[in-house]
Amino acid sequence: MLLNRRNFAKIIGITAAGAMMPKMSIGQTAPAFIKSKGSGRMKLTFKPYPLEMEHTFTVAEYSRNSTPDVLTQIEYDGTVGYGEASMPPYLGESIATATKFLSKVNLTQFPDPFRIDDILTYVDSIAVGNPAAKASVDIALHDLLGKLVNQPLYKLWGLNPENTPDTDFTIGIDKPDVVRAKTIEAIKMKEHLKVLKVKLGRGNDQEMINTVRSVTNLPLYVDVNQGWKDKNKALDMIYWLKEKGVVFVEQPMPKEQVDDMAWLTEYSPLPTMADEAFQRLPDIVDKIKGVYSGINIKLMKSTGLYEAQKMITVARALDMKVMVGCMTETSCGVSAVAQLSPLVDWGDMDGNLLIKNDPFTGMKVVDGKVTLNDWPGIGIKKV
Ligand code: MG
Repeated sequence: MLLNRRNFAKIIGITAAGAMMPKMSIGQTAPAFIKSKGSGRMKLTFKPYPLEMEHTFTVAEYSRNSTPDVLTQIEYDGTVGYGEASMPPYLGESIATATKFLSKVNLTQFPDPFRIDDILTYVDSIAVGNPAAKASVDIALHDLLGKLVNQPLYKLWGLNPENTPDTDFTIGIDKPDVVRAKTIEAIKMKEHLKVLKVKLGRGNDQEMINTVRSVTNLPLYVDVNQGWKDKNKALDMIYWLKEKGVVFVEQPMPKEQVDDMAWLTEYSPLPTMADEAFQRLPDIVDKIKGVYSGINIKLMKSTGLYEAQKMITVARALDMKVMVGCMTETSCGVSAVAQLSPLVDWGDMDGNLLIKNDPFTGMKVVDGKVTLNDWPGIGIKKV
């Protein structure tokens, strides 16, 4: 189908009044994949696929029921690699920005899909920003390469699949009866979770932890999403959290409070992990070194697997902790980052467990542990 302006607008749901997110419910016919420029051997196509959340998701700054998402495919000689851009609104990307970016990507100029450095350097140079849209190309390309040589990525990278971390499941901020019910539900999940992540930062921190602790003694990760403004109170809270069996504290203070954050990390009895405070590789040296104990890598920030691998190398050279996380994502994005997870300390990879319209099956959580299959590429199949 020719990508003229009218067809493009019709497919992604842009009206004359401006860009709007297309409304699509489960069971409704999905729009066709949109072709990018050119018609050579490596073909990129993409389509909007809004993710429907199982439950309203609440963190320190906002609540939401769905997440904008775009699925990508790169087809080469009859083999298809899958990718995904998940775009929680607070990060500034949208289905409109991702489709605009992806429509500029011309992969037909590259004769060899294995020239990943050339290809992804080009993709990164098309426009600044757009990390999730870039990740959707990176993931599809990696999936394609694995499928072309019929091997899972972790194997090509020489990683031991037994070294994957446990993953948590996230308990959002809510009233005690809801938190209690969600915690009970979480510990009964078929995945047999060994750790939970609790969102804090809305002024009811002790109530949240005490409620979770009334149900389970599992180790807890804590994510404050920049919710604490006072470093002394933050330090007192971290000491209290340590007594409550918390393992680390993610993004405790606003990313702008760099000096306070460095002080907090110096005195904190628990590791502090940067999330909102960084996105790309250079940020680790520029913004994170000496300020946090470690980093939470997400493919939708790092522009994909290629840069995420470099981030792990740099962070380890700086003696930092490393965790991998995800946005609300399908099994595509989660299975992609799972390929790297044998290299990290902790996993926060429950994105696909939070949605009800996952179009893929892939990485599984078994007895709480990220469990990789031996399917080629990122290890997913369409359901
Ligand atoms: Mg976080």
